[in-house]
Amino acid sequence: MRRWNGWGDDSVVLETPQSGLAFLQSQIGSASALPDAGFAQVCEQVPPSRLAEHPLINTSAAERVKHARGQSFPDWLAMRSGDFGVFPDGVAYPQSSAEVRELLDWAALQDVDVIPYGGGTSVAGHINPEVNGRAVLTIDMGHMNRLLDLNAESQIATFGAGVPGPQVEAQLRAKGYTLGHFPQSWELSTLGGWVASRSSGQQSFRYGRIEQIFAGGKMECPNGTLEIPTIPASAAGTDLREVVLGSEGRMGIITEVKVRVTPLPEQEKFIAVFMPDFESAKAAVRTIAQKKIPLSMLRVSNAPETQTQLKLAGHETMIAWLEKYLALRGIADGKCLLTFGLTGNKQQNKLSCKQAMGVFKSLGGVKGPAMMGKKWAENRFRFPYLRENLWQAGYAVDTLETATDWENVSDLMQRMESALHNALQDEGVKVHVFTHLSHVYTQGSSIYTSYVFPVAADYAQTLQRWKKLKHAASMEIAQGHATISHQHGVGVDHAPYMHAEKGLLGMAAIESLLAFFDPQQRMNPGKLIRKE
Ligand SMILES: Cc1cc2nc3c(=O)[nH]c(=O)nc-3n(C[C@H](O)[C@H](O)[C@H](O)COP(=O)(O)OP(=O)(O)OC[C@H]3O[C@@H](n4cnc5c(N)ncnc54)[C@H](O)[C@@H]3O)c2cc1C
Repeated sequence: MRRWNGWGDDSVVLETPQSGLAFLQSQIGSASALPDAGFAQVCEQVPPSRLAEHPLINTSAAERVKHARGQSFPDWLAMRSGDFGVFPDGVAYPQSSAEVRELLDWAALQDVDVIPYGGGTSVAGHINPEVNGRAVLTIDMGHMNRLLDLNAESQIATFGAGVPGPQVEAQLRAKGYTLGHFPQSWELSTLGGWVASRSSGQQSFRYGRIEQIFAGGKMECPNGTLEIPTIPASAAGTDLREVVLGSEGRMGIITEVKVRVTPLPEQEKFIAVFMPDFESAKAAVRTIAQKKIPLSMLRVSNAPETQTQLKLAGHETMIAWLEKYLALRGIADGKCLLTFGLTGNKQQNKLSCKQAMGVFKSLGGVKGPAMMGKKWAENRFRFPYLRENLWQAGYAVDTLETATDWENVSDLMQRMESALHNALQDEGVKVHVFTHLSHVYTQGSSIYTSYVFPVAADYAQTLQRWKKLKHAASMEIAQGHATISHQHGVGVDHAPYMHAEKGLLGMAAIESLLAFFDPQQRMNPGKLIRKE
């Protein structure tokens, strides 16, 4: 069953090897866990619903608790402490675009705010109700989860927007296709959510981001229905897909999504390589991107992330042997793990592998054991479960992500890491920080930084610690020729930093679009653009 106060399925329990915890302790000291609130205890706090009765709306406390928060760090603290503050007044599960239309018209008549809800995996506060005097209806798209059409000739599939990752793939695979969109939250996040928050999957190097996959569809808006036809390319003015992408539930509810699908590959494998240092690893992935060598995934962990991964993997004896072998090949302190994917037909994969290995070797790279690539593939969606283990050991973990041009990547990464290292110095608290590049382009790369810190004596102080960390690193991003989000979207947490990227005129243009589609401003208020 899905955890109500954390990540994923409660039957999945990851072991954290003792060496991993000992390593964290050596980096940032020991910590003790904060007490967790119980589900029943939280349900008791839920106030009576302010919504009139409606046959499609469930106002039970349990449903309202389960839809009150996403997966951001403040959300995590709210769920663990039981201090939610605010809950939606009811939750609806429409089965069709017509029911979504009915609910939106009803919300307008009743003067109710509406929050579109996909998988609730937002890490930026996207689906949290606001306190503004209006009642709040959350519309969970989870029942609109079917493959509605597959046009094999044009390779376009139409889905209900609430379909989560595993159901997308199962329905397509049965017909010989894949979407190829695998965000780490794949298990729970949905197609509509990916479009609404501009998601990027682990194999974006082959399949593209959701922007390249999203071909058209239907959005029910307070002022009408927007239908976007699938056309391979168009010079007919503004591309309305770009308006829907990243709309974060502020303009309407996406009910149907048409996507570009790909026949299932003949072969797929992932291979690990060790590079001597971050600069050579970065040069390697930049070269591959700019030479357009057709790999499906490229990911570089910097030295602290490589070390952390090796410690958290357990298998101490095997890793000691591996490190001895690498040292003999000239790869020691400062080594960086690079993982790449080969997806396609066997002949093409063989050629791509040869070309890629040529680049890695020319920069001092050494192939890792075959098992490492296999393990990456096996565990690719399991890393988020680690948050639970670390929490129980008294450690808080969060991530930050951005993208910038190549000439800026190393400098920005270092500035983000230093900002995080130093942010809690006034309290004498150490922070463990590590980074990877996981989406590379000819022009530049994403930068994905994780940070771990000991929880404070109580929840309020822990939240204050996070605010200091988040703000310090976000300021480096906002002032650093980079985007405030490469893949997680804006929500509440990134809204204060939007101006730096969009400028005053750009912000006004986005605001006027929101006001056009939703004149009464009842769709997901407070997200994307905030009026403080
Ligand atoms: C552990 C973890 C790992 C993650 N890894 C990645 C990753 O690798 N790549 C990545 O891109 N993101 C990642 N994320 C972030 C998150 O999964 C994405 O932002 C995802 O796109 C959200 O999808 P969702 O269906 O859960 O949407 P929700 O969280 O439910 O909603 C997100 C936003 O989209 C809107 N929305 C949802 N459905 C609709 C709809 N049908 N119509 C209109 N608006 C809608 C909501 O109103 C909200 O504003 C991760 C999150 C977690 C917790």
